[in-house]
Amino acid sequence: AAPVAAADRQLVRIVIVGHVDHGKSTLIGRLLHETGGITSQKLEQLKEISARRGMPFEWSFLLDSLQAERDQGITIDTSQIRFQTPSRDIILIDAPGHAEFLRNMITGAAQADAAFLLIDAAEGVRDQTRRHGYLLHLLGVKQVAVVVNKMDRVGFEEATFRAIETEISAYLAGLGVRASAVIPISAREGDGVSAHGTRTPWYDGPTVLEALDRFEPARAAGDLALRMPVQAVYKFDDRRIVAGRIETGSLKVGDEVVFQPSGKSAVVKTIESWPVPPAGQELTALDAGAAAGLTLDREIFVERGEILSTPAARPHATRRLRVRLFWLAEEALEVGTSLIVRLATSESRATVAVVHEVVDPGHLSTFESRRIGRNQVGEVELLLSRPIAADPHGLNPRTGRVALELGGRIAGGGLVISVLD
Ligand code: GDP
Repeated sequence: AAPVAAADRQLVRIVIVGHVDHGKSTLIGRLLHETGGITSQKLEQLKEISARRGMPFEWSFLLDSLQAERDQGITIDTSQIRFQTPSRDIILIDAPGHAEFLRNMITGAAQADAAFLLIDAAEGVRDQTRRHGYLLHLLGVKQVAVVVNKMDRVGFEEATFRAIETEISAYLAGLGVRASAVIPISAREGDGVSAHGTRTPWYDGPTVLEALDRFEPARAAGDLALRMPVQAVYKFDDRRIVAGRIETGSLKVGDEVVFQPSGKSAVVKTIESWPVPPAGQELTALDAGAAAGLTLDREIFVERGEILSTPAARPHATRRLRVRLFWLAEEALEVGTSLIVRLATSESRATVAVVHEVVDPGHLSTFESRRIGRNQVGEVELLLSRPIAADPHGLNPRTGRVALELGGRIAGGGLVISVLD
């Protein structure tokens, strides 16, 4: 396909997950090179360095070299790698380690539109593979393509591939996730990444690059109801500026807006954003994704943590949430555990009132328990010490997620399932 003009390119944010050593970094290095993100010259340099040190070249060195540049402050962004496919701009949300990935995902700092789940052909589907699949589902990542890597280790044998394809497809289907493709590749040798492998003549599905190109771009956040979590309120002269990022929906001068949980309302008088428009031009509307500074037609006192919306579609203000979460901390989560809940820019103390169910993500079975242990998933009811504005994740995937803190550290996270009062 012919490359698409810059203005028409669409952005897709992806993550690559899978059991450690199944070839995540190798695939990323290969993708960066084959999409032109890393020049041949750089590649030769790295190969030379490896040769001089007497070690075999690894594609993952490309990532290490990027990391080194970041450490020297050459690349500004620390957690995102960008490259292009023929019709998409891809942001790869880099997840250095498992815990890091979870933290990024649940705090919402990094929200992926799509994911690759990687499996080593010689190792097959492992517990960690299933857990990652489960987390993708839990976090609402709906587009998942499976990559069966290291096909060279199994002689590019179709039967091995089909067995893995069947097993993982059934597992994902059990979660309600349809794999958009299951792709046999060898990341190290290059088969199936940007060109069809000659050693898999029995496969006629997409390459990794084609699968990337077919992912739906970033969810049309603008089509959802207006949600702007308030990050800060500044006072300038006599003006009060309400600042935040528009997570979903859009906003224009003259709109009536409501802040929740306070329930206060006002009309938008002026809008500022970045980059600042040329002198003489005034901003009158903003879309999802934009950072906004608003002034209002009347003096109302609102604070960080409130969510700005429209009167017709406002989030509930509540002190009782049902949350599906996964738990990372050493000590188990049980009735009576006291936490901090963070949702968008709001935070509140909370206590666990009920533990509803616990799920074993490895086997998708539910069991009775009153506590959720490390790396387990469960549903709980939380009582908050102060009301916050919340949307169930089913209504708004952007704002319907929470992070849970214990002793100043992120101890878990998940989705708001329902708002209980
Ligand atoms: P990660 O932990 O998932 O990031 O895995 P790496 O990308 O670091 O790869 C782990 C090991 O598997 C490295 O030694 C790679 O060279 C090797 N590896 C990665 N892809 C392939 C492949 O397609 N074929 C073979 N035989 N080895 C591979």
